[in-house]
Amino acid sequence: MLLAHKVELRPKPDQLDYFEKACGHYRHCWNHTLAWFSQQDSDGNFIFKWSKAAAYQFYMKVLRVEFPWYSEVSSVITRNAIDDLDAAFKQFFRMIRAGKKPGFPKPKKRGVKDHFSIRDSAKFDVKNKMLRIEKLKTRIDMRQPIRFGGKLKRVTISKRAGKYFASFLIDTDEYNPKDVDRQPSVGVDVGIKTLATLSNGEVFENSRLLRNNLRKLRKLQRSLSRKVRGSNGYAKAKLKIQKLHFLIARQREAILHQLSDYLTKTFDRIVIENLNVKGMMKNRKLSRAIADVGWGVLRHFIEYKAILRNCIVVIADRFFPSSKTCSNCGQVKKILTLKDRIFECDACGFVIDRDLNAAINLNNYTA
Ligand SMILES: [Zn+2]
Repeated sequence: MLLAHKVELRPKPDQLDYFEKACGHYRHCWNHTLAWFSQQDSDGNFIFKWSKAAAYQFYMKVLRVEFPWYSEVSSVITRNAIDDLDAAFKQFFRMIRAGKKPGFPKPKKRGVKDHFSIRDSAKFDVKNKMLRIEKLKTRIDMRQPIRFGGKLKRVTISKRAGKYFASFLIDTDEYNPKDVDRQPSVGVDVGIKTLATLSNGEVFENSRLLRNNLRKLRKLQRSLSRKVRGSNGYAKAKLKIQKLHFLIARQREAILHQLSDYLTKTFDRIVIENLNVKGMMKNRKLSRAIADVGWGVLRHFIEYKAILRNCIVVIADRFFPSSKTCSNCGQVKKILTLKDRIFECDACGFVIDRDLNAAINLNNYTA
């Protein structure tokens, strides 16, 4: 699992000097390479066709020879300019092939998003809040230690508002925030009207924004069906629908991220239903956000975040009658229809919200 962590640096004067040079050399290499491959003949054709190999040749045989001061900083820093420029060119060509009009890669300006990176883990390391980078004799003081252990893959140093930051990319298999005081266990029932009901009584409502957009979508789809295929109005309505689809997908995902974040940050053990197989039949029971995006997405979010945050996910057996069981006495009801919003126990007379009852049963579930 790759995670990023950004830490503010407290560079000393010699280190500031290195940073300035590294940002400047990277920018210089980018701009000179870009200028070389931007040259056009009188017909407007490129004289030197871009390829990563050609750019690398230009870098080794021209730039590094003509500007020996590149070696004041780690050589991987300027070389990154070729890789990044290659990515920019590839993106440019991809857009052209897709029939769009992309902007040509632009020269970099001093003071605008100044940064450089080292992507070779042999060329930097961190010890006791001190960062070493190749060709810098002293270690740089970091304001905080890196949050998680693991292998450092890359560091990007950037300047924002006069301050320097190091953004690390770490390949980690541990993530256990120590600052949270978690509750032992929770059962989660995904509902019809509400997104989720937790066994401690907390309820996650569906987002009104999402509901409104779904209503809008249905309206648009109706109006599209009345329009003539191929007409101007049809194309316009179609585009509107596509945009709304995109927005709705993002809203759904945001909701499921919120819910799964909350659960994995707050509880050590999370019990959810197994809806994978039952899902088809029970789809009507699920709230819009979950039903439309698929139960699997929410389950996937909860499961991967649980690994990150060291909590246990228990999937209740798919025949476990979470809704039909009385959470007070354990009696199982024979009939419970979807309309029954309140659970009433025939054996002990216990009365409880249907979803809360199911959530409590899930919380008490033992495999
Ligand atoms: Zn009962």
